[in-house]
Amino acid sequence: MQMNEPVNEYNLPDAKGHYGPYGGIFVAETLMHALEELRKNYEDLREDKDFLAELSSELKNFVGRPSPIYFAKRLSEQLGGGQIWLKREDLNHTGAHKINNTMGQILLAKHMGKTRIIAETGAGQHGVASATVAARYGMECVVYMGSEDIKRQSTNVYRMKLLGAKVVPVESGSRTLKDALNEAMRDWVTNVNDTFYIIGTVAGPHPYPMMVRDFNSVVGNEIKDQMPTEIGRHPDAILACVGGGSNAMGVFYPYIGEKNVKLIGVEAGGSGIDSGKHAATLCAGQPGVLHGNRTYLIQDKNGQIIETHSISAGLDYPGVGPEHAWLKDNGRAEYVSVTDAEALDAFHTLTRVEGIMPALETAHAIAHAIKIAPSYDKNKIILVNLSGRGDKDMDTVARVSGIHL
Ligand SMILES: *Cc1c(COP(=O)(O)O)cnc(C)c1O
Repeated sequence: MQMNEPVNEYNLPDAKGHYGPYGGIFVAETLMHALEELRKNYEDLREDKDFLAELSSELKNFVGRPSPIYFAKRLSEQLGGGQIWLKREDLNHTGAHKINNTMGQILLAKHMGKTRIIAETGAGQHGVASATVAARYGMECVVYMGSEDIKRQSTNVYRMKLLGAKVVPVESGSRTLKDALNEAMRDWVTNVNDTFYIIGTVAGPHPYPMMVRDFNSVVGNEIKDQMPTEIGRHPDAILACVGGGSNAMGVFYPYIGEKNVKLIGVEAGGSGIDSGKHAATLCAGQPGVLHGNRTYLIQDKNGQIIETHSISAGLDYPGVGPEHAWLKDNGRAEYVSVTDAEALDAFHTLTRVEGIMPALETAHAIAHAIKIAPSYDKNKIILVNLSGRGDKDMDTVARVSGIHL
């Protein structure tokens, strides 16, 4: 594990969980103790050889790491520009990058003597990843999910139940992910003695954004070994889709000190930024506080969260990880958006041309790679983090294509 490898002078967050003016801890007094306990335990374990060896073994034998890097030769040739390479997180157990983080957090829970897992989920992917590791370790698992999302994601709800999790419908607010997060926090306050809260992305109060980034950094660290071995150098650009930002942070973080590698995050432009129906938080949002940290948010002029829209449920979050907010402001990473229609096009293109069906979230990053590849020289390398596979999106793709399954 190279999880703790220093990345040049970049050494964030600070002791209080700040990334520039972002991040921090904005929670009720009753949660401070739980967060402090978590921070202390994680600080010890992230340096602990036995813990890292155990995590490494689980990532290899249960998750299936390392995932390969793959040259999308036919797609690159068709576009006639730079070479597009894919980091195959779609080949992980449960089909996406999310298992990297849930595996790290459940091991942490085990070492802290916790027996009950709670999680929030929107599309259900983080709920499934949490229920999977809870089953693996024989722990009780409760997943909070907005009742609106439960209706939209019945297959994932059933999947969680098969894995032994209890799915609790949340009826407050817009009955979606942000409301599920609030409810999970409430549960944690009440049951903090035996309960570990697994957050699904690089958001929430410190130490979560740092912890989730570290657990996902295994992806970027693998690329850092794989690219020089296979082609003798680092990529010229690294692209990833950004919902909360965990798969992007996982590939960006190990490269922050490599100033020649361009980092590009791709947000959900929905029906277009001008339509107001999107989830492009960094491209179109303003700083504020939500879910325990300061970051960019999609909000109205009174600071009320505006309902977001994206064809991909996993990008449909009105906030974004605070470290991305800082990387945007200081210019180290660039953030762009891609519309539903462009993502859907990219989904079909990658499926037809390479035989790889990406998740609709991932299709946003693919769409941007397709856009920029023609302007890159043939010897330049664009690496896309293929965060997940598209099997879960069959119903959505069929529906928007007017096909009845
Ligand atoms: C959940 C999900 C995302 C979005 O979450 P991030 O925290 O931004 O990575 C992206 N891709 C896939 C496949 C997902 O399941």
